[in-house]
Amino acid sequence: MKTTRLLWLLLCFVSTNTLAQSGELQLTLSPLKQSYQEQDSLTIEFSLRNTSSNSLRVLKRGTPFEGSFSTDMFEVMFGKVLVPYIGRRVKRRPPGEADYLRLLPGERVSTRFDLSRGYEMDRAGLYTVRYRDNILKAFRVTGAVKTRLVIQVQSSSITLQLIEDRPPLSSLEISTGNFVACSVPQQSTLNDSLTSAQTIALQSQQILNSTPTAVRPGAQRYITWFGQYQSSRYSTVTSNFQNISAALVDPELSFDCSCNEDIYAYVVSFAPKKVFLCNIFWQAPLVGTDSRAGTLIHEVSHFFAVANTADYVYGQTDCKALAISDPDSAIDNADSHEYFAENTPFLSMSSGSVPSGAGATINPAPWLLLLLE
Ligand SMILES: [Zn+2]
Repeated sequence: MKTTRLLWLLLCFVSTNTLAQSGELQLTLSPLKQSYQEQDSLTIEFSLRNTSSNSLRVLKRGTPFEGSFSTDMFEVMFGKVLVPYIGRRVKRRPPGEADYLRLLPGERVSTRFDLSRGYEMDRAGLYTVRYRDNILKAFRVTGAVKTRLVIQVQSSSITLQLIEDRPPLSSLEISTGNFVACSVPQQSTLNDSLTSAQTIALQSQQILNSTPTAVRPGAQRYITWFGQYQSSRYSTVTSNFQNISAALVDPELSFDCSCNEDIYAYVVSFAPKKVFLCNIFWQAPLVGTDSRAGTLIHEVSHFFAVANTADYVYGQTDCKALAISDPDSAIDNADSHEYFAENTPFLSMSSGSVPSGAGATINPAPWLLLLLE
């Protein structure tokens, strides 16, 4: 009887809470060699072991299980110098079922990847590598009950020795021209998308500049996407939009249509004025939420010389939560700029009702909010 009641209480608990756990997953990084030569790929192995007695579904995003670099997921040090991330920055949909890796109790899965595809590792010497995040997002599956988890993992550092200098990846030839591998209809679609992107970026810049200082702390549109008003953050967002507007009319801005992945688009740091368009971009509407115009704003905001934004979260729900929990990250998040510019549904820059909690001074941890969709 007692056991039944306890079990019932436990079930109630797990089905209504996001649990922060440690020890359910073991993360291991292993170099494949002690030292690497110029022509070697800098391959290392990343493995996860489910040390619990339940099945787990682990979000592949932000781990090497994605198959290619889409985020800055490792801390790579060359002596005391942080090695720059040179992998892709993408725009994609919030995660779906296929974005989770299934791990049975006790199961270990591993993947191998070339670290130099994501980090500028071209100088001979010793590199220290560590998985940057200490949390993984997952579900625990117990029968029909799925519980959201945030699993804390420890990543020990590994070292890699590169014996000889090698040519930097950024020196590789990249195709030039305003359109690469774009059909005539795709070029026409891109021209329309660019015109709309220029329009909404300029409108964003103008409204941020023209909103009177006294009105800014209550500006619904600003607070929804960038969080509690602070003059320095507002200035950053304003100058970001000024740079985004300029980048969208830069004659050197170019487009590459060769991508065939189910994401919107991506950029890479070694092609500083190029946007790579992928499958979902062509299916998106011209304007409105997650539109083609908005995607171009998202992508150019990533350029180092424009706003150097990151991808903390994707999608309106998570961006609104980020604005509440962590405005400093929201002003550095690409999708937050996109949604401000798209302004769908319409929000004004005058004061009005803002989402409950926006502008609150006591904020829960961002990872907790992100899990409460
Ligand atoms: Zn992005």
